[in-house]
Amino acid sequence: MKQETNIDWNNLGFNYIKTDFRYISTWKNGAWDEGHLTEDNMLSISEASTALHYGQQCFEGLKAYRTKNGSIQLFRPNENSKRINNSLKKLLMPEIPEEKFINACIDVVKANERFVPPYGTGATLYLRPFVIGVGHNIGVKPAPEYLFGIFCVPVGAYFKEGLKPVNFMISDYDRAAPRGTGSAKVGGNYAASMQAHEIALKRGFADCIYLDPATNTKIEEVGAANFFGITKNDEFITPLSPSILPSITKYSLMHIAKEYLGLKVSEGDVYIDNLDIFKEAGACGTAAVITPIGGIEYKNTLHVFYSETEVGPITKKLYDTLVGIQFGDVKAPEGWIYKVK
Ligand SMILES: *Cc1c(COP(=O)(O)O)cnc(C)c1O
Repeated sequence: MKQETNIDWNNLGFNYIKTDFRYISTWKNGAWDEGHLTEDNMLSISEASTALHYGQQCFEGLKAYRTKNGSIQLFRPNENSKRINNSLKKLLMPEIPEEKFINACIDVVKANERFVPPYGTGATLYLRPFVIGVGHNIGVKPAPEYLFGIFCVPVGAYFKEGLKPVNFMISDYDRAAPRGTGSAKVGGNYAASMQAHEIALKRGFADCIYLDPATNTKIEEVGAANFFGITKNDEFITPLSPSILPSITKYSLMHIAKEYLGLKVSEGDVYIDNLDIFKEAGACGTAAVITPIGGIEYKNTLHVFYSETEVGPITKKLYDTLVGIQFGDVKAPEGWIYKVK
């Protein structure tokens, strides 16, 4: 067993840290190899890899949580497995059996146990699975070989002093095309979002919100998170569109809203000209958990929801229940928690 880390768990951000082990598996001649853990955090690949030139790659993000009694658990890794296979299919890459994906996640967490933050700090171990097309190839076609890797980094609690709302602006750009790769978790969508993201930061916003690329009238994504709103008659509403990345956090919140909080829940159109129906709004995803949305700027006007400085009561309840389930303090729905140890 390696020694304890000297990490200050209460002051972790979202930054790369070299942990002890990562998993790597190679696909060649039609099959994945067994895969193994390695201490080497560098990859050596062909200069002609499709991942480098044509964006043939995809990734996932999930977290391992330390519970009050010291055990470690993953939150719905089977959903990440389904989603990566969806992204892989879309980019003509070989799928990964669910068992291989989940076991590799568990092996990486176990091998880096000293980096799983203590319960009570709000910090977690973030896992980053990815698949890249590699091998010697110059034409635009699927790669001859693939690498599937998973590394992990301890990350801090997003909100250290309680949930604080932030403001967003509506972007003039689209992140994905109406019939493009928006629903796949691929790097190309992120490359396409960097300029819009930088503009939002420079203008003092947390990030930008993308409207639907076909009509520019409906909310789609909040940066790299999904949108939800709570209407004045207590309905949880979230956009439905083929160019949104289906957030596992979002689908979990829909279940929590209905089954734990007794709210009505629906997926549908969220028109940017009709934000008055909402009394609260938020952005959700694995990294941010829930970010309360203070206001949204559109056509030079800031539409404020509950408050620019305080989280709304329903958003707060959704957050507490979700985080409670993830850290093992609230009873989880059947099948959501995978024990690592
Ligand atoms: C990963 C991701 C999300 C959040 O999904 P979760 O499964 O909740 O982590 C939302 N939008 C985009 C564009 C993403 O890549």
